[in-house]
Amino acid sequence: MTENPPNPRPVSSRLEGQPALVTGASSGIGRAIALGLARAGADVVVNYSSDPKAAEDVAHEIEALGRRALPVKADVSKEDEVLAMYAAALSHFGTLHIVVCNAGIQKDASFAEMTLAQWNAVIGVNLTGQFLCAREAVREFRRRGVVQSVSRAKGKILHMSSVHQEIPWAGHANYAASKGGIAMLMKTLAQEVAPETIRVNAIAPGAIRTPINTEAWNTPKAYDDLMKLVPYKRIGEPDDIARAAVWLASDDSDYVTGTTLFVDGGMTLYPDFASGARFSRPS
Ligand code: NAD
Repeated sequence: MTENPPNPRPVSSRLEGQPALVTGASSGIGRAIALGLARAGADVVVNYSSDPKAAEDVAHEIEALGRRALPVKADVSKEDEVLAMYAAALSHFGTLHIVVCNAGIQKDASFAEMTLAQWNAVIGVNLTGQFLCAREAVREFRRRGVVQSVSRAKGKILHMSSVHQEIPWAGHANYAASKGGIAMLMKTLAQEVAPETIRVNAIAPGAIRTPINTEAWNTPKAYDDLMKLVPYKRIGEPDDIARAAVWLASDDSDYVTGTTLFVDGGMTLYPDFASGARFSRPS
C-alpha cells in the first residue's frame, strides 16, 4: 500500500507563493474570497464574465494589498473560454495552487413554466462550469507536483455550493439541482485525487448579502421574513464566506477533504422546529 510521507513543512495559514484563481470574482462572495486570499498572501486571477470595470477594481484592491492580480474574462460554461483563461493564468503566474469555483447564477421559474433555456443556463454555469474549472485545476496540479516550500498539498479546489444542496427550493429546481450536483461532484473528485494530496472541499453558504439575492434582504419586511429562517439572526456577509475559504485553501485544513462546510447561521437546523413545545404532548 502506498502512503504519503509526512510533510516536514510546518502548518501555516499563509498563502504566499500559491497563486489562486477565483471565478465570478468581480462581485459578491467571489470578490470577498479574492481579497481574502490576497490578504493571506496569494496572487489572484480575477475571473469575470461581463463587468470588466468591476474586475479591474478588484484587481486594484488586490494590488493595494501588495499582491499581483490578473483580471481574465471567461464564461465558465464554455470549454474554450475556460481553457483560454487557464492558459492566461499559467502564462502570467507560472502555476496555480488554489482554484475557487464560485461563479453561479439563478434563473427562477415555477417548475411547469421553466424553459429548457433557463434549466440549461443554470446547469451550464453552476455545475458544468465548476466541472470544467476543477478539471483544469487537477491537470495543472498534476503537471506541477507538490512544492513543499509553499504547501503540504499539491493543490486545493473549493466548490461554491449552497444550503440548497440540502434544502429543497420550490421555484428554483434548476438551481437546487445544480447545487445537489456540486455535492456529489465535489465528493467524487475528492475521493479520486486524495491519494495525490489534492484537496477538494465545498462551502455551502446560507443567506449572504450579495447582488444574487437582493430582494431577500433589501427591505425591512424582506429582512424580517429572512430572519425567520436564520437561527443566528443576522444575514451573512461575503467576508463570512471568505474566511472559511481562506481556511480551506490553507494548510490549516490540511487533513480536510471531501467536506462541505456550511456557513449559514444555522439555516440548515430546521428553525421551524426550534420551539419543541409546539409538538409536546398535552398534559
Ligand atoms: P453574485 O451575483 O454577486 O456573483 C456571481 C458571480 O458569478 C458574478 O460575479 C457573475 O458575474 C459571475 N458569473 C455569472 N455567470 C458567469 C459565467 N458564465 N462565467 C463566469 N462568471 C459568471 O452572487 P454571489 O452571491 O456572490 O454568488 C456567488 C456564488 O455563491 C454562487 O455560486 C451562488 O450560487 C453561491 N451562493 C450564494 C448565496 C447568497 O446568499 N448570496 C447563497 C448560497 C450560495
